[in-house]
This record gives sequence, structure tokens and C-alpha cells, in this order.
Amino acid sequence: MSKDLKTSIQYIKSVGPKRAEAFNQIGIHTVEDLLYYFPSKHLDRSSILNTVKVAQLVINGYDGEVTLIGKVEDTEIIRYGKKQLFKVQMKDSGGFFECVWFQGIKFFKDLFKVGQAYAVSSKPVITRYGNLQLAHPDFDKLSDSESLEFLNTGKIIPFYRVSKELKSTKLGDISLRRIIHNVVEDYAHLVKETLPKQVIASKNLMDRCTAIKNFHTPEALNKLDEARKRFKCEELFYLQCLNALRRFKQKKKISGIKFNVHAKPLKQFIESLPFRLTEAQLKVLSEIRKDMESDEPMNRLLQGDVGSGKTIVALISILIAVSNGYQVAFMAPTEILADQHFKNLSTYLEKTNFNAALLIGGQKQSIRKTILNGIKNNEINIIIGTHALIEENVNIPRLGFVVIDEQHRFGVAQRSKLISKTKSPDVLIMTATPIPRTLSMTLYGDLDISIIDQMPANRKSIKTVLRSDNQLDKVFSFIEEKANEGEQTFIVYPLVEESEKLDLKDVVSHFEIIKESHLKNIRTGLIHGKMNWREKEKVMESFAAGKFDVLFSTTVIEVGIDIPRATIMVINEAFRFGLSQLHQLRGRVGRNDKQSYCILITREEHLSRMKVKKVDLEFLSNTDLEKYKSQIRLNSMVETNDGFKLAEIDFKLRGPGNIFGTQQSGLPQFKFTNLIEDQDLLVEAKHDAFKLISDDPLLNKGDHKIIKEQIKNTYLEAFNFSHIA
Ligand code: ADP
Ligand code: MG
Repeated sequence: MSKDLKTSIQYIKSVGPKRAEAFNQIGIHTVEDLLYYFPSKHLDRSSILNTVKVAQLVINGYDGEVTLIGKVEDTEIIRYGKKQLFKVQMKDSGGFFECVWFQGIKFFKDLFKVGQAYAVSSKPVITRYGNLQLAHPDFDKLSDSESLEFLNTGKIIPFYRVSKELKSTKLGDISLRRIIHNVVEDYAHLVKETLPKQVIASKNLMDRCTAIKNFHTPEALNKLDEARKRFKCEELFYLQCLNALRRFKQKKKISGIKFNVHAKPLKQFIESLPFRLTEAQLKVLSEIRKDMESDEPMNRLLQGDVGSGKTIVALISILIAVSNGYQVAFMAPTEILADQHFKNLSTYLEKTNFNAALLIGGQKQSIRKTILNGIKNNEINIIIGTHALIEENVNIPRLGFVVIDEQHRFGVAQRSKLISKTKSPDVLIMTATPIPRTLSMTLYGDLDISIIDQMPANRKSIKTVLRSDNQLDKVFSFIEEKANEGEQTFIVYPLVEESEKLDLKDVVSHFEIIKESHLKNIRTGLIHGKMNWREKEKVMESFAAGKFDVLFSTTVIEVGIDIPRATIMVINEAFRFGLSQLHQLRGRVGRNDKQSYCILITREEHLSRMKVKKVDLEFLSNTDLEKYKSQIRLNSMVETNDGFKLAEIDFKLRGPGNIFGTQQSGLPQFKFTNLIEDQDLLVEAKHDAFKLISDDPLLNKGDHKIIKEQIKNTYLEAFNFSHIA
């Protein structure tokens, strides 16, 4: 029989009609389908510990899961009182360990035979008899030759999910592995490439056939990574091709503003700054500049971790827009942040002929009226404000450029309301590192992304520590000491005033007490959301001017606030805050060349109950995640300053469902890609696909017809794209 990928799996050795039916039930009909039934995990030597090492971990308080490989030495059912348990005694290179089951004994007791090898995983404990024990572990059977090979040559073993349909045909781990192995050996070479040569070459990807082989039985761990990457890249490439085709059709319809960039004054301005722009800022600026110069409307997302210097990039782009005679709207999520941008920008504008106005909710009617008139008559060039900007009566006749800061605080609807104030302004959206909604928007293909992946030079990494309420005395003396050296502190509380419902500290009463006691020798100030705008503005102004040392605050200062002299951030009841919130708050310090500190205060009882000492998500099971969420958040903060990593952890803690909302309409289901981890690949894929499609929109050149075929045969359906227009 000639070999063919469409061969029914019924004809594969050890399958036959009965098992073929079971395979059909899980969507596998042909040999080809089986080639893409990838392992759910792999066992490699680096992920296996032996009995001695595991016992050490347990003694040191490790609370996660482990995997051991051992041979069954003995099995027994032990009765105690009315109950019974099933115990399997196992042995590995380090010694003996036992696996126990309290339930399902009937089922498990026949599975384990003396002499068989198993890989078992669960959370280890040491029993009161001193035995290393795994209760109700996950287990995978290994054949003799496999376990020998594994131990001797370090060969990586794939594990496949054996569905209940397959199990019912007496197909187990080992036999499924063997069937798939044979199919891969016999048929993988028939698989055709699905990516254009140019893409494979430029990204140095594994070809499809090699990737399939290595996904199943990798020659080495890095080959497995390469294989995965290849499939991720393919998936993302096709998603972005679909977006690009869609976008390409749209773009032909609307035309935007073509700004002229006057290079000389711009260069002068950049040189007059008190610092030198980072490489990353310059790169991003050149991307924005290209967009502004083109007659297609810009729709760009500027992403960068807190403190990476997004604002100055926005300011420079704003200058380009106003020097072309257009008006600019700059929207920020809070009054305080809008005001900060306003003041900041106003200083830069002093040397120019341009002006700016602030438009926020709390302003006096008379002032507001004057400003609105100025905007309407095109006398005001730059309007900075909160969502007050999007109100109906704000008429911005020459609006040519829109900047939205900390976009995750705004809904998509608010954004489009501002943008629709004129025909098609260029739009720059800014956000700290990766906010899932921006990801989903990326997926819809309506934003280009620029990333600032570098912090300004001379920044020291912020030191983050966990302290209990009992240690607050020390924290206050530290604050006082630093105040005497001219450094400033934020102290954040979760509540404004005491609450009957919530047993949490509030800023008002703590401020009253602490300013008269612990901090009576230094200068303090208070800000919170219940104060009126005049009061808030005054407090922020004098804190920025260094007129006092410590600002007691609620989370009104959470986003965007830039007080370079502040070096200490104290967060009370830190266990109550979400991870991205904590990271944003911490980002208020670390904005100069001094050492900054973030002190997370939590209750003594929380601190002493802390079990998760080191955050290793690989090892945490889902129940652990649930149980230790607040601990994981706090420890993650201590362990890393990297907003990217924290977002990943946050994603894992909250689950994609919660972050994306109710399966936001049409977010594609990926087989290989993880939206948080693979953001770089996503950005690259977008670049590649958009370039390819704009060079060859009809997909006629070279081997590009592959793309057409793949889209038609596979991806339109896989990504739920009903059409491309
Ligand atoms: P974010 O990206 O969080 O919005 P900001 O734009 O507020 O960060 O910038 C943080 C601080 O770093 C500001 O005080 C800003 O003036 C300063 N800054 C920006 N770019 C640089 C740079 N290239 N070198 C030194 N400091 C910079
Ligand atoms: Mg900012």
C-alpha cells in the first residue's frame, strides 16, 4: 500500500476498527490527524528528581509538586478501622518512596505490577514514619526499554493524553506512545511545508516535518522548543495575515493626515532635554514619525514598563502635530495625572509658540467656558484632560493627533469616541507592559505596536521587601532618615475613611495619628479621592516641589504620577491589592539614580502563614494557585521588577477568562501560542505578515499561494474568521 497522509488510522498497526472508532470520537480520522496529536507533556531528565533530593526539598519547606520515576517493588491494601488505603512501594536511584490512594482503590489496585516503571507526580510529604509519600499522584507508565533508555541515554519521553474513549479500548500510555511513534516514523516525511520559504528562512524556523518529529520525540530539549516555536510562529503568522488582508482593504478606503516633520527644530528640542533619550525611545520615535509622515491614519500602541519614559515620546510626537497647525488631545485616566502632564508640557512649551489647556471635571464653569471657546476657535493647540475631553460639547475643530495615556484604564468605547471627534486623526495609545486588552486589540489587527524595552540609564533596580504591621516602627524611622537626606515617600492605604464593612486601614485616620507621632519630626501631606480638585492640585504641587516629605495617599496616585525625588513606596494591606496594581504603585518610585524601595506591609498573621517562599509557577498546581493567591502576588513582587513577568503571573492567577472578560467576541483559540509569553512572536508575526501582504496583496508572487491555500483550508475556520473583508 502506498503511503498517504489521508490513510485511515484503522489500517495502522495495533489500531484496527474498534480503536479507530475511539480515535474518531476525539477527532482523529487519518494518519495526518494523528501526526498533530501532540504530547501534553514530556519527561526529560532535568525535570526528574530522585528520592533524596525530594526529601530534602520537603524538609526545606517546599510545597509544590515533583515528578519521580521509580519501579514498583510491592503493592498492598492496608485496612485501618473501617477504611482502607492502597499503597505502592517504589524505588528509584535515591531509595524508596510510596504512592498512596485513599479512593478509587478498586481501580488503582490492578494497575500497578511489581517490576513496572512509572513516572509519578504530586505534592510530596514525609510521613510520621519518615517515609517519602505521594498521595493520589498523576502517573504515566513507562515500558522497560523506555525507562532503561531514559535513565541511560536521557532520551526524552512524550506523554499523550489517553482519553476515556481510548482507554475503553484498552489503549494505555505505552501502546498509544508506540502507535504514534510508528506513525511519525512512517509518515512525517510526507508532510508538506505550510509557510512560505522566505518566512522560514528569515526567522530561521524548523521546517514542518522536522518540527513534527521533534514535537513528539525531541532529540534534545532545545529542539522541542524550536519545534514549538515553529508552530507558534505559523499560527501567529496566519492570524496576522488574516488581519493584514482585512486591514489592507480598510486602509484603501480612508486617508489620514500627512504630517511634515521639521527635523531641525525637533533635533534641537531633543538636544535641549535634561537627559539623553534611550535607544528604545529613539527607535519608537522613528516608528511614530514614519506613521505620522504617511497619509494612512496612525493607530499605534506604545508599550513600555512603568518608568520607561513614554511621556517624553508622546510630547515629541505632539510637537510634530502642533507644528503642522493641528490641535492635539491628550487624555489621561485621572485628574492628577492629566494635571501632571499639563504642567510638564507647559514647561516644555515655554520656549515655543504653542499653548496648552487643562480640561477636567472639577473645574469652575467660567474657566471651563473660556477653555472650551479657545479650543473651538483653534486658539488652544493642546488639550489635556480626563474623559471630560470626550463630552459632546467639547469641539476640537482641527484635531489631528490623539494621545491616550494608560489606555487600559479606558474602555474601547471611550477611545473611539475621542477619535471620532474628527475624521481620522493619528492616534497614539500608551500603556505599561502587557495589558491583555491591548493584546486582544492587536489580534483584531487595529493597532500597530511599538515597545520601549529599556529603562533610562543610571536607574537602580527597586528593592522590594515584605514587612508586617509589627515592624512599622522601623519603617517609619527609615522614612525619617531618608527624608533628612532629601528623599520623599508615598504611603498608600486601601481606604479613604474608616469603614464599617471593611476591616482595612484608612488614610485619613492613620495620617492624623502618624503625623503627630512617628513622623512628627518631618513634613507630611494627605491626598485622596474625596478631596476636591483644588485641594488635590495643591497637595500634588507642593509634594512635587519638595515642600513636604511624605505623602499619605489612596490609590489616586496609582498610575502615571512622576515625582523623581520620591524613593520610598509603602503599601499598607498589600495583600489586598492586585498584582498589576502593586506593580503600578511601585512604579511611582525608582525614577532617579538613587536606590528606591518598595515596602509591602501586611498583617503579622499573613506573614507568618506564608508558605510559598519562592514563586515557581511551573511547580504550582491549580489548587495551590487558588489557595495562595495573595502570597504569590506578594512574593512575585519581591522576586521581580519585571512588569512582563508579573503580567504573566497575573495572567496565570486570574485566568484568561477573567482578564479577557466573557470570551471577548471572537478572540481566537490558539493551539500553541500563549498570549502573554509569546508577545514578541506576535509582534514579529504582525510585522512579517503585514509586510508580505502589502508587498503582494494578491498573494501571487513566489510560493505565496501556499498562504492562500492554508487560509482557505485551515485558518479561516480555526480562527473563526468568517470573511476577510
Ligand atoms: P512612564 O513610561 O511610566 O510613563 P515617564 O514617562 O513618566 O514613565 O518617565 C519616567 C521618568 O523618567 C520621568 O521623570 C522622565 O522625565 C524620566 N525620563 C524619561 N526618559 C528618560 C531618559 N531617556 N533618561 C533619563 N530619564 C528619563
Ligand atoms: Mg506614564
